[in-house]
Amino acid sequence: MIFYEEALHLIRQVAHQRKKHLTSERLPLATSLGRIVAEDILSKASLPAFDNSAMDGFAVSAHKLAGATKSQPICLKISGQVAAGDAPVSSGSLVGAWEIMTGAPVPEGFDAIVKIEDVQVLKDEQGRAYEVRFFAAPPVGQFIRKAGSDFSQGQIVLKQGEKIHAHHLLALAALGLAQVSVYSALRVAYVSTGKELVPFDTEPGAGQIRNSTAPFFAAALVDLQVDLVLSEMVGDEPASFQNFLERALLKKVDLILTTGAVSMGQYDFVSQEIQKREATIHFHRVAIQPGKPLLFAELKEGPVLFGIPGNPVSGVVALRFFIRPFLQKLFSQTEEKAFQARLKENINKPSGLRQFAKAQLTWQEGEASVTVLAGQMSFVVSSLLQANIWASLPAEKNELRQGDLVDVYPLF
Ligand code: AMP
Ligand code: MG
Repeated sequence: MIFYEEALHLIRQVAHQRKKHLTSERLPLATSLGRIVAEDILSKASLPAFDNSAMDGFAVSAHKLAGATKSQPICLKISGQVAAGDAPVSSGSLVGAWEIMTGAPVPEGFDAIVKIEDVQVLKDEQGRAYEVRFFAAPPVGQFIRKAGSDFSQGQIVLKQGEKIHAHHLLALAALGLAQVSVYSALRVAYVSTGKELVPFDTEPGAGQIRNSTAPFFAAALVDLQVDLVLSEMVGDEPASFQNFLERALLKKVDLILTTGAVSMGQYDFVSQEIQKREATIHFHRVAIQPGKPLLFAELKEGPVLFGIPGNPVSGVVALRFFIRPFLQKLFSQTEEKAFQARLKENINKPSGLRQFAKAQLTWQEGEASVTVLAGQMSFVVSSLLQANIWASLPAEKNELRQGDLVDVYPLF
């Protein structure tokens, strides 16, 4: 048995070695959401592309308004009007003030904008604005969005490993980066073992239970950028398991997930069966709870295999604290760091095992605190529904006191 930290280290090592096998594809923005950037994306242009106004108001030369005050305003003739979408006005027109709208190019040579609320506009008998009164001198650059002040040409817009969210599209679209290079999704096969299982949408017979883990993995894997290309149930027959492996290999999967059959019981055959195929077992059993019998291996034929204990919450923990870090390392994503909060109450925990505890983070007067929920057994799903956080409690302690700082992680 190894500690969680060592297991994580091994997992990341294997993921690192496998980066070279990854492939990527170019996608239009519209279909890139949720995908992972395969190489740094650089800006090909500056943004804003031209100096433009941040306000509706008047473009001026700041020095012409030097000395203007409330009691001694300075008047300038209105030379014209520029709206967003107009071509920039060239320097020949550097007289008076230009009426300007938000987003319009600042007439060449002008260096400040005074907003409409701060001036008095004088109109002739026909109601045409001809002159504007200023009551203060603006600082140079006031309300001008300088060209290149958001992005400069050559700057990194998105780093390799970044998952593309909707707000990233703001930058990519504005910069005209209409296609992005993203990692191709990994191909994954999943098998549930155990003759007690029936598909969740059928009625269990005597002694049988519904397979709840299969739909969980199918859903959770979507978010992790993997394609579930094979999902099956085998009973307790090693031969059926071998048969599943053969079919997974034919489908050229990168990753195999199994649930059940990794503990010490008579029908726990996963380790034995993959050893017959000369798999490399990196670890089997980790000092954690839940999920202790977890198995991590590489098949001789190529795929990585996670052998996950059958209890549903063990599956959730395996995905959250083992498979996800594996995928994050593989896709060059930043390693996740815990944040910390204080325990609300004293707790006892199993000694020698890191406990991934279903917990609740609550706030009182701006202070966050963690409550470890009742029902930590690995078959108990109801407490998972009450949890909003995982508390990761150190192996070396068997009791923790109210006020102790503990590591916490978002649920997913
Ligand atoms: P095992 O790891 O095979 O010893 O299974 C541990 C426990 O998890 C047993 O009570 C199994 O019936 C249960 N179990 C195994 N696989 C699943 C599954 N896919 N969905 C729900 N429960 C399961
Ligand atoms: Mg079983």
